[in-house]
Amino acid sequence: MANMLGALKTIEQYKSDSPHYSELLDILAELLILREEYRKTADKTIFQVDDHLIPQKVAGGLPLIDFFSGKFDVSVPQNYFLRLLDIAEKRSPEKAQEMVAQLHDGVLDFEKMVRHTFDPLSEEEFPDEKDDDFFDLVELFLEESLRPELEKVAHQYGDRISKLGWNEGYCPICGKEPKIGEIKASDGRRYLFCNQCGFEWHYRRVKCPFCGNEEQQALAYFTIEGDERYRVDVCNVCKRYIKIVDLRDTEQEANLDVEDIATLHLDMLAYEEGYS
Ligand SMILES: [Zn+2]
Ligand SMILES: [Zn+2]
Repeated sequence: MANMLGALKTIEQYKSDSPHYSELLDILAELLILREEYRKTADKTIFQVDDHLIPQKVAGGLPLIDFFSGKFDVSVPQNYFLRLLDIAEKRSPEKAQEMVAQLHDGVLDFEKMVRHTFDPLSEEEFPDEKDDDFFDLVELFLEESLRPELEKVAHQYGDRISKLGWNEGYCPICGKEPKIGEIKASDGRRYLFCNQCGFEWHYRRVKCPFCGNEEQQALAYFTIEGDERYRVDVCNVCKRYIKIVDLRDTEQEANLDVEDIATLHLDMLAYEEGYS
């Protein structure tokens, strides 16, 4: 709760700093309020974790939750997704209503849509309309629909995983790749953040999270002049990038959901430079 209020405060501040992000930050604020509600719906998560398999999974680089092979009851996430669609409906009423109707009639299958976000290259059916604001929101909301459930897993097992030592560049809880990370004030180390489940894990600074490259000459970063709070770590072997937030010079604690949206200009820059 304190977390959410802090995030909402940061959102207001960022909206006045960068008015062109107002619309997206407003959407995020609405989403965070709904998320808080869904966090409280149940203590138990829809995801089962086999306790004694954890050390083996961590050692083998396998995430705790395998969304592909498992069978999960997605009714709560689906309900949450429909509530999130209300946020989109205010902006694109016709498209949102059409999607609700298609889900209701079975033309669209929520579970398949969610699975698609774990493997965008899969052949799973998905309303594929790139460069459309509504569908960008749908993708965001599909990912968000599982967040409260996966957060519970992260809260329950995160410490144990950190102690066992996870050395991969993808999330140990859900397997997704990070888009953003931070340098923590407490130890000055780099941590990667998973938007899908909210988990953060330590990852060596001189190593690419995506291909594991450790050659210092092939790793670089760029910053925006005048704003030392952010940098983009890039790898010239695999041409991928990750945004890194460093708020050590400020009093603020980073909320990486908010930072991810407030740094979309860095994503644009990275694309322009040929990174993905
Ligand atoms: Zn995750
Ligand atoms: Zn790389």
